[in-house]
Amino acid sequence: MPGQTKAETVEGVQTPMTEQEFKKRDANWVLVLFYIHVYVLGTYAIYVTFTSASWSTILFTGLISLLGVLGVTVGVHRLWAHRTFTATAPLRVFLMLCQTMAGQGTIYSRVQAHRFHHAKFLQDEDPYYSKESFVYAQLHGNLLNYSKQQEQMLLNVDMSDIASDRIVMFQKRYYVLLYIALNVLLPLNTAFQYFGESVAVSIFVSFWLRSLIVLNVGNLVNSAHFVWSIHKGFKPTDSNSIFFITKSFWPQYHYMLPHDYQSGEFGDYATGTGSTMIRVFAALDLAKELLTISSVAVRNGLTIAVDTKRPIVECIEEQRKLQQSAMPENHFLNREKFM
Ligand SMILES: [Zn+2]
Repeated sequence: MPGQTKAETVEGVQTPMTEQEFKKRDANWVLVLFYIHVYVLGTYAIYVTFTSASWSTILFTGLISLLGVLGVTVGVHRLWAHRTFTATAPLRVFLMLCQTMAGQGTIYSRVQAHRFHHAKFLQDEDPYYSKESFVYAQLHGNLLNYSKQQEQMLLNVDMSDIASDRIVMFQKRYYVLLYIALNVLLPLNTAFQYFGESVAVSIFVSFWLRSLIVLNVGNLVNSAHFVWSIHKGFKPTDSNSIFFITKSFWPQYHYMLPHDYQSGEFGDYATGTGSTMIRVFAALDLAKELLTISSVAVRNGLTIAVDTKRPIVECIEEQRKLQQSAMPENHFLNREKFM
């Protein structure tokens, strides 16, 4: 029959499906409602913060917002999705608790989505619409369920390393309980019980304002390349945005060579809070085997790629492995030398 190109199996029966149905993504209405609440109540919470909240509540909210962002950037992105370093069990527990406080779904689901995003970057199947626009990637892509096509493709994302991480699987199993305890009750109760805040101020500042901040910063992991990277045809000197944001090639570098712990999520390299925290964790012996690539290794890799006509990424990865074995254990303390 014309137009029927795909099929799915429902209880063993082949049901014909059009190409359009196969690629269609429905809205996740629970998430749409949640996002409406986050934006409306979170915006009002800014007013509440300036008029009614105590300094203790504001500082506490800032601290747990930062921990939530660390759980997303250092935890989900650099540790679990890209394996840019290895972490001891206590550090993995800490990052798992931080990521739960971010309230953005399980580590397992976020890692799977991010690996899929990298695999389909700048293609139609990317769940975060990397071909579209910043708003699509930051907002729209997060509010839609996967299409049948994407669900099938997700099965090809290698998650074996994540499935064997007992801490990640523990969080996946008890996520609802952990979410309620760490993302709802802990922040509300702390402001209410220890800082003498009213229930209303606790809810607005510690929950809705924090959700607004962490959700937006966390979603940037998949959309920041629109803001901070130099896209084709972009002329930095023609734009006033250069005064507010630093356009750089680092996002392009990350999508080409994601196994570098120093690649920041927001266009920076080596200097951001995430990179600094990983160095602190390494100095405390909690993080090990930090992966990075020196300029010399990149240059050698490029030269070999030109000489041999082999793929650029393959040649640079080869040089990175060579360089890694020659690096001293504590290279992260001497970053000028290896940047
Ligand atoms: Zn990434």
